[in-house]
Amino acid sequence: MATLIDGKRISQEIKDELKEKAASLKAEGKEACLAVILVGEDPASKVYVGNKKKACEYIGIRSESYELPESTSQAELLELIERLNADAKVNGILVQLPVPKHIDEKAVIRSISPAKDVDGFHPENVGALLIGEKGFVSCTPAGVIELLKRSGISIEGKECVVIGRSNIVGKPMGVLLLRENGTVTICHSRTQDLKNVCKRADILVAAVGKPKMINREYIKEGAVVIDVGIHRMENGKLCGDVDFDDVEDMVSAITPVPGGVGPMTIAMLMKNCMESVEES
Ligand code: NAD
Repeated sequence: MATLIDGKRISQEIKDELKEKAASLKAEGKEACLAVILVGEDPASKVYVGNKKKACEYIGIRSESYELPESTSQAELLELIERLNADAKVNGILVQLPVPKHIDEKAVIRSISPAKDVDGFHPENVGALLIGEKGFVSCTPAGVIELLKRSGISIEGKECVVIGRSNIVGKPMGVLLLRENGTVTICHSRTQDLKNVCKRADILVAAVGKPKMINREYIKEGAVVIDVGIHRMENGKLCGDVDFDDVEDMVSAITPVPGGVGPMTIAMLMKNCMESVEES
């Protein structure tokens, strides 16, 4: 029987630890504050921002919300970020992506002070991750490592295969698994013989963005499967990049969708926020 890796429970455990930490920091007169910026009306982004605010409230992190109209210019957005960079009361700054098309996402990411970049997207933080220095790490892949560790799954010496090479998931995922002494292969849309590469994996991380693409033909018997994908199906239910029902009987452990990696992303964002106040 496969072990179900319970992201909902583990993320709650992390949030409760952070809540305690927030209370003891408060007793020292320190309070974490996250500034969340949303530009435009994208409904999914609104839901994500709402969930982040709720998590802040639960833990005891103050959140400042900036909901700007779609017509906001890049200069106006950068000006706001500059102001928040200079505000000593603000520890973390998050711009909900994607931003509208007339705004250069890379310029926005670069404009956030690396010390307040709790999403871990700034090139300085990405570089720090690569060379093993301290810095903020992208929340979803950091959440995957936390899930593995807190489930007692060791990474050292294991064949780890990541499917996907995006800047926010696949690439940092590969570096983090390497940092934990895994033997890492990163696959992408040009990888040849993907199934056989995946079949080598003791730990397979799917971040391919294709609903239920990864079926049993990609899996080695007894592998640990982490499903980062999240898709809304026609029946309204959520599914991942992995065909859960098809692979469940041959894996040793697997994350469900929903309730696996998803809740970990926000928990790790909150962890980054708390670290930013501890550093300040
Ligand atoms: P992306 O579209 O930026 O990247 C997908 C990657 O998969 C690319 O690097 C591409 O090379 C690779 N790819 C595409 N087709 C392939 C194929 N046929 N074979 C092999 N590789 C292929 O996506 P992303 O932002 O990295 O997100 C991946 C998935 O994770 C999406 O489903 C997304 O919704 C989900 N996601 C979830 C969370 C969360 O909190 N759970 C956070 C971020 C992303």
